[in-house]
Amino acid sequence: MQLSVLGSSGTYPSQTNPASSYLITHGSTSIWCDAGPGSFQALLDVMNPDDLDAVVISHRHPDHCTDLFAAFHALTYRPRPIEGLTLIANRSVIDHVKGFLDAGHDHAIDRAFDIHVSEGGERHRVGGIEIEPVEMDHSAPTLGFRFAADGRTIFYTADTGPGGSWQASVGAVDLLVCEATMQGTPSGEGSGLHLTAAQAGEIASRIGATRLLLTHIPPHLETLMSVREAETTFGRTVMAAVPGTTHEV
Ligand SMILES: [Zn+2]
Ligand SMILES: [Zn+2]
Repeated sequence: MQLSVLGSSGTYPSQTNPASSYLITHGSTSIWCDAGPGSFQALLDVMNPDDLDAVVISHRHPDHCTDLFAAFHALTYRPRPIEGLTLIANRSVIDHVKGFLDAGHDHAIDRAFDIHVSEGGERHRVGGIEIEPVEMDHSAPTLGFRFAADGRTIFYTADTGPGGSWQASVGAVDLLVCEATMQGTPSGEGSGLHLTAAQAGEIASRIGATRLLLTHIPPHLETLMSVREAETTFGRTVMAAVPGTTHEV
């Protein structure tokens, strides 16, 4: 499997980095994971979206889903629309996206996408990749995603705090793509909505991740500082997600 970073900017995009978005590929199977602002253009840089097998969206926060609208228009408003692209997301995402479009019965979005509503816990087979959504710990209902193919695994945390039962669901993974929105020591109410880099390192160590890729670092933080903080708790080299890079798993 390969994970390509389309965008990794936390909370909002920067001039050179779209917000959260990744492409997971295995053989001829391609899955677009999260669609943060700027990511549809980044996707066009690496593939023809007509060849996508599925889109998975973690949650309704705009930094993770707004380019789903760009994809919807690109699929729909063309001479020969593409129909039935698999979309896996929770009810909250689907309701908010449809609400924004004021989509009633027989709306074009129901033709563009073959919608699979998930609240986590089940498995989906898309081409050569198995996808397992996992309920995370965030201010909106959020799914993390475990991707497995040929005995290799990637887990993407999306946005999450350390609470809930998700850490027990992840298991040992070859690559943990973990959010690290904050630096320093977590303090006060509300810090459970996101992770510090040190917490990301702790979690990677606890679940037995082989490699840790930090993501969702906001543009106003120094990435190298986050990497160093995560390395102190992980005890190994940590990588930061850089747009345009691909990680072989
Ligand atoms: Zn976010
Ligand atoms: Zn969020």
